[in-house]
Amino acid sequence: MSNEHEPRKPREQYRLRTRLIHGSFATGRWDYDHHVVPPQSSSTTFRLKSVHRGVQGFVEFGSPQAQRAPIYIYDRLDEPSRSMLEENLAAAEGGEMGVTFSTGMAAISAAICALVSSGHQIVAHRVLYGSTHSLLTNWLPRFGVRTEFCDLTNPECIAGAATRDCRVVYFETPVNPTMELIDMAAVRKVVDQLNASRPEPEQIRIVVDNTFATPYCQRPLEFGVDLVVHSLTKDIGGFGTDMGGAVIGSNRFYNLLMLYRKDFGGVLSPKNAWPILVYGLPTLATRMVNQQKGAMMVANFLLKQPKVARVVYPGLPNFPQAELARRQMVGYDGKFAPGSLLYFELKSCNGSGAMAGERFVDFVAEHAYTITLAVSLGQIKTLIENPFSMTHATVPEEDKIKSGLQPGGIRLSLGLEDWQDIIADLEAALAVV
Ligand SMILES: *Cc1c(COP(=O)(O)O)cnc(C)c1O
Repeated sequence: MSNEHEPRKPREQYRLRTRLIHGSFATGRWDYDHHVVPPQSSSTTFRLKSVHRGVQGFVEFGSPQAQRAPIYIYDRLDEPSRSMLEENLAAAEGGEMGVTFSTGMAAISAAICALVSSGHQIVAHRVLYGSTHSLLTNWLPRFGVRTEFCDLTNPECIAGAATRDCRVVYFETPVNPTMELIDMAAVRKVVDQLNASRPEPEQIRIVVDNTFATPYCQRPLEFGVDLVVHSLTKDIGGFGTDMGGAVIGSNRFYNLLMLYRKDFGGVLSPKNAWPILVYGLPTLATRMVNQQKGAMMVANFLLKQPKVARVVYPGLPNFPQAELARRQMVGYDGKFAPGSLLYFELKSCNGSGAMAGERFVDFVAEHAYTITLAVSLGQIKTLIENPFSMTHATVPEEDKIKSGLQPGGIRLSLGLEDWQDIIADLEAALAVV
């Protein structure tokens, strides 16, 4: 029992006011290993048996040793609910380690900023999630980090865009919301050629935002990507209750990311980590299989509608990059996994396609039961939005148009409703545009 915290005299001999505070919390009763569902940990600070243990905890923080048997000191440094989620996220992506953050943007900014210093360059795809685009164009230049945007659907463009100072190649695939794919193995090849003449500290790292596909549909590390970033707020959380983010990759980045998170402070609250650990990640595969089935049904329905100008879904046979989709998007069961998101445009009738798109979405917002007008994606409820003017408002207009994102374009994130009900709601909206 020498490991246990032994009070100087029996608890009963302390005044009640003191006992209410100290109770018998310091107890041998904690036995995490035997809980079927992990308990939610909620402690900002941790009892240390000795000063020596505290010192050791600080010395080992962020090291491989701490990854295996951490000495918990303070929530912002490390904490068990979050660590359990990190271990499972790493497994889901086939990575060695994961570090979680308070939001997807906190994870994205950490992954990028941990790899660059003033004077460095980033090469990124021209269409990105709106806040990521804003981070690269509004904030990083203030710290001397520039971004060169190019069309990574042609990975050869990296060789022309990257300067000697380039340290990061950054993109999403499928691109949000145009559903264009970027060939990760081809990007790896181009970056390997550039890295061949660079010493280790100057190597270019590839960072991919895998939020859209989810690790169920695609595991970028298998294609040679260095770091995967996620918004856990979307499909991994799955139920739309909590925000979160994660960076996943090899152990060589663990220390850097943990130090970054400790000092910039964007930690995932254990209260938010817990539902993702207990409800979100364990049901990811089941949800994706069914959401994907709905997406396929809806994509096929939209394809046949005379008022629909274009449907982009990696699962459709007419998808422009169908071969790449089948190579890159593969589920845990080895089957083609084109995901749960699709993008479509309406034909212009009595005006522009943009007006038709807005009328359509407004009708859905007012009259549909199964489809909700809301940003975000990857929930059990089907969500619809106009990315051009909403989520992608900060991306320059010409880059959006060049990537096939039109003002009236509509993004649909399939939920788990009966697909026939979703189609009926879409049919009703099509009738009025
Ligand atoms: C939502 C989203 C983000 C940002 O995540 P937050 O959790 O909202 O900070 C980044 N990338 C993509 C592709 C997203 O959909």
